[in-house]
Amino acid sequence: MSGADAGIVIVGGGQAGSRAAEALRLAEFRGSITLIGDEMHLPYERPQLSKELLLKEGAEPAYIRSREQWQELDVDVMTGVRVAGCDLEKRVLGFEDGRERRFAKLLIATGTRARRLPAIERGPIPIFYLRSVDDAVRLRASLREGARVALIGGGAIGLEVAAAAVERGCSVTVIEAASQVLAQIGSRVISEYFLKLHRDLGVTILAGVTAQRVAPEGLVLSDGSVCRADLALVGIGVEPATDGFIGSGISTPHGIRVDRRGATECEGVYAAGDVAVQWNRCADRWMRVENWANAQNQAIAAARSMLGQGEGYDSVPWFWSDQYKANLQVVGSLSNVTEIVRGDSAGGRFSVLGLRDGEIVGAATVNAPKDMAILRRAVAARVRVNRGDLENAEFDLKRLISK
Ligand SMILES: Cc1cc2nc3c(=O)[nH]c(=O)nc-3n(C[C@H](O)[C@H](O)[C@H](O)COP(=O)(O)OP(=O)(O)OC[C@H]3O[C@@H](n4cnc5c(N)ncnc54)[C@H](O)[C@@H]3O)c2cc1C
Repeated sequence: MSGADAGIVIVGGGQAGSRAAEALRLAEFRGSITLIGDEMHLPYERPQLSKELLLKEGAEPAYIRSREQWQELDVDVMTGVRVAGCDLEKRVLGFEDGRERRFAKLLIATGTRARRLPAIERGPIPIFYLRSVDDAVRLRASLREGARVALIGGGAIGLEVAAAAVERGCSVTVIEAASQVLAQIGSRVISEYFLKLHRDLGVTILAGVTAQRVAPEGLVLSDGSVCRADLALVGIGVEPATDGFIGSGISTPHGIRVDRRGATECEGVYAAGDVAVQWNRCADRWMRVENWANAQNQAIAAARSMLGQGEGYDSVPWFWSDQYKANLQVVGSLSNVTEIVRGDSAGGRFSVLGLRDGEIVGAATVNAPKDMAILRRAVAARVRVNRGDLENAEFDLKRLISK
């Protein structure tokens, strides 16, 4: 097969890879599309892995499309195939099993992998990570009533699993190295709200300590204490899944850097989703944006760019997390901002707005989706506002976007 006939190859059969494949067909691309993923499953939605899938016995993964629907779209989906190397000059990928695949254009959508904690992996307590449907099904089987579950990492995934484990009757301890949970969000108000929410529902939260090693009775922590546990889940962040592209010239330790079009420095090679390092104007730095909406929308924009279409991608980061009955949504960035709280934080329905130099650069809402709908538009439109207006409970947020 010549390079010109080799079509578009997408590596990574997750949210970004799938949505890019669909977008290519929607944009009337008629050449071949191959979607290569190393999991044995067809592409599926990851957010429900720490939510519905853990809560409901027998719940099935939410597949993005069935095998037949992929065939109808004329996308060749290869599962269980791992890209182990690539030669961008020759335009060829090498699979782990020794086969090769040529491409005319390439989209890298390999996402991230859970950061591991090898120091505790070999010991008497089963250690879990949560990235794939197989991980979730294994974890679910262990969340039995009365089980003592240690969650290492008080970020969104750790706390979602805490909520699921509590609902399944487990006894739960969260071990967090920072002084507060959800520290990545950067809002003291949000961290304190979720800390109290979990504690009120019986979760023990140990902040400012780390898990050092495993002893027969549990995890030995950095302050010398022991957290008794029957199993532990490690949720301490992720690393970019760039192993197939190391040495290719476009991979960095942080991920694969792309411009607004999703293009890398190598002509015809693009990246999108969790693996892509992009400029984030709200945070004012280059970074990976690891959320569902970004994986979907950046991938769609990159697919269109591959065909010379579209304006590129310029969306502000937005994600949600569900814990018990609390729906948290975060847009933009809340680091280095003045926080203004609106609503009833004690009652569990409120919004936190982040002002930097008179501009709303980020916001978080708890059980206030209508506020978030407005705030997403306000952050995207770079709305400038008076602090006094936001502090006035009578001020109607809709005015932010009505001009
Ligand atoms: C448990 C969990 C809960 C989440 N909940 C939320 C949420 O509530 N809200 C939210 O906004 N976001 C959530 N996210 C994040 C969101 O799911 C991710 O941002 C999104 O899945 C990223 O999509 P992606 O396609 O970039 O990467 P992925 O979905 O990780 O897909 C990448 C795929 O590429 C494969 N791959 C990697 N390397 C290779 C290779 N060399 N060869 C072949 N295949 C390879 C991987 O195995 C994987 O299947 C959650 C994530 C997890 C894990």
